[in-house]
Amino acid sequence: MRQRFGLGYDSHVFVDSRRFVLAGVEIDHPKGLKGHSDGDAVAHALIDALLGAAAMGDIGGLFPDSDARWKDADSMRLLQDVRRRVVAAGYAIVNVDVTVVLEHPKLAPYLGAMRESLGRALGLPVSAVSVKAKTNEKMDSVGRGKGIQVFAVASLGGA
Ligand code: MG
Repeated sequence: MRQRFGLGYDSHVFVDSRRFVLAGVEIDHPKGLKGHSDGDAVAHALIDALLGAAAMGDIGGLFPDSDARWKDADSMRLLQDVRRRVVAAGYAIVNVDVTVVLEHPKLAPYLGAMRESLGRALGLPVSAVSVKAKTNEKMDSVGRGKGIQVFAVASLGGA
């Protein structure tokens, strides 16, 4: 089986009066992530990792933020749509790995639910879904709590 890898990255800033949703899981926090969609940066980074592994473009090409259809969109549905596209192209998703960089809040209590949510969306067992969180050691804008960064890697087999 030929193996392929893709890298995804996303960043969003925190704003008042929005739900904070990562990997489809609502996180208890006074701020949420700004974005045309629901701002789910984990879903967005994973979408780019999957599309990158399949060399099928990127999230901005598939779901342009100029398109009203994606306003406040549930990004986990976009992730499921990308899974269908990747599978339709003949690939199988092997595993995914995500690192979220943020200063607050602590994500440890949510990581299990995030892995399960991503596993459901991607048709993967939890053992094939990794989500890690770390701070930026108070450095730069992410370290000052302005927003978050997410890095994601996806591995595909087949085709
Ligand atoms: Mg995004």
